[in-house]
This record gives sequence, C-alpha cells and structure tokens, in this order.
Amino acid sequence: MIRFHFLLLLLLLCLCLFSFSSVSVSSEECWVRCGAWRVAGEANNLGEWKAVPEECAEYVKAYMTGKGYLADLDIVSKEAAEFARTLQPAADGKDAWIFDIDETLLSNLPYYAAHGYGLEVFDHEKFNDWVEQGLAPAIEPSLKLYEDVLNLGFKVILLTGRSERHRSVTVDNLINAGFKDWNQLILRTPDDQGKRAILYKSEKRSDMVKDGYRILGNSGDQWSDLLGSSVSVRSFKLPNPMYYIP
Ligand SMILES: [Mg+2]
Repeated sequence: MIRFHFLLLLLLLCLCLFSFSSVSVSSEECWVRCGAWRVAGEANNLGEWKAVPEECAEYVKAYMTGKGYLADLDIVSKEAAEFARTLQPAADGKDAWIFDIDETLLSNLPYYAAHGYGLEVFDHEKFNDWVEQGLAPAIEPSLKLYEDVLNLGFKVILLTGRSERHRSVTVDNLINAGFKDWNQLILRTPDDQGKRAILYKSEKRSDMVKDGYRILGNSGDQWSDLLGSSVSVRSFKLPNPMYYIP
C-alpha cells in the first residue's frame, strides 16, 4: 500500500514537472517568435500591419518598458552622431539633418501604455487628444543627437506627419522637452492630408533639395520617414514595434 502511494506521488510529481516545463517552453517559444517578428518589422521585411499580434502584446510591452528599447535607441543615436562627426558642414548653411517627431524626438509611450502598446488599432481622435495635451517627453538619446548635430553646424529640419493645426502645441511640447533652434518645422497642410507618409515626406525632401539643402542625415522611427525619393546620405531607423505607418 505504501509502495502504491509512493508510485502515485511520483507519477503526480512527473506530471507536474512536465506541465511546468511545457508552459515555460511554450512561453519561451512565444518570446522567440515575437522577437523574430519585431526584428522583421525593424528590417522592413513585414508587409503593412495594423496592430501588434495579440500573442506578442506582453513581449512588446516588456520591450518598450524594459532596457531593450532604451539600449536600441542609444545605439542608433550614437551611430548617427559618429557619422555626423565624419562630415564637415559647409559655411553656406545648407547641410541639413532631418528629424521626424513622434517616436523619434518625442515619446508617446504614456499614450501607448494606456492603449496596449500597439495592441489596439490606431485611433486618430484619441491620439489627437493626447497630442493636444503637449505632454510627450523627450526621447533622451535623440535629444543628445539633436544637440550634437546642431553643435556640429547642421541645419535641423523637423518633418512630421502631424497636422498644421497642431503647430502651436507641437512647438510648445518640443521646447518644453528641450528641443530648440530648428531651422524649419514642416507639418501636413490641408493639401498633404490623405497622402501616404512616404510620398508626403519625399515631396517635402524634394522641396528642401530644390531650396539648395544637402540632406546628409535623416532620423525616423518609420521606414516611410526614410525611404522614397530625395533620400538622405544616411538614414537612421529608430526602433518602434508599436505601429507601422506606410
Ligand atoms: Mg515617427
């Protein structure tokens, strides 16, 4: 009888261990798959996507709130600054560095924290309410790069998908977050509404080139900030696994 109980106990222990190990293997596999999804997104290998896959919600949250996101931002900023230091802006003041704003200079993490870190499909109205509060903090590694390129003598041009009607709140938000001395701040006019970001930004870069600017660097969290026409000599892609703008 004692032997039977012992065998039963052993069996239960084995079942328990098996079930724990399968949970941890499956969550580890999920983490690996979501890591692969994130890297595929950063490398622009995914098609257009509307929201973070449900099984990756926890992964993206952990990445955005943990050390990974900051470390990735840091390396982009440092590499960009290193490239900028290899250039010598000319005295004519026409060597330019373009920065996108959202998730490049300013962080909307407080907004996305309340909206599932990209799990929810993007809601323009709710996001605009957040923009109008003007409370987005600086992305610190980008602020460092911003100051570095200004000190090196580049003209800084801000090119954002935000609307012209948000100019005033955007200017206040940028200044409060520590950004200053930009040369131009370009926002979407009514004529630009409805254009895909890649076209809108290409057209604006083309205008800059017509104005005699040499676009040497471009920093953005979306490939649509960086690709298209009149592209910069080098582009720097900041991480963003929360949303995709075509
Ligand atoms: Mg952006």
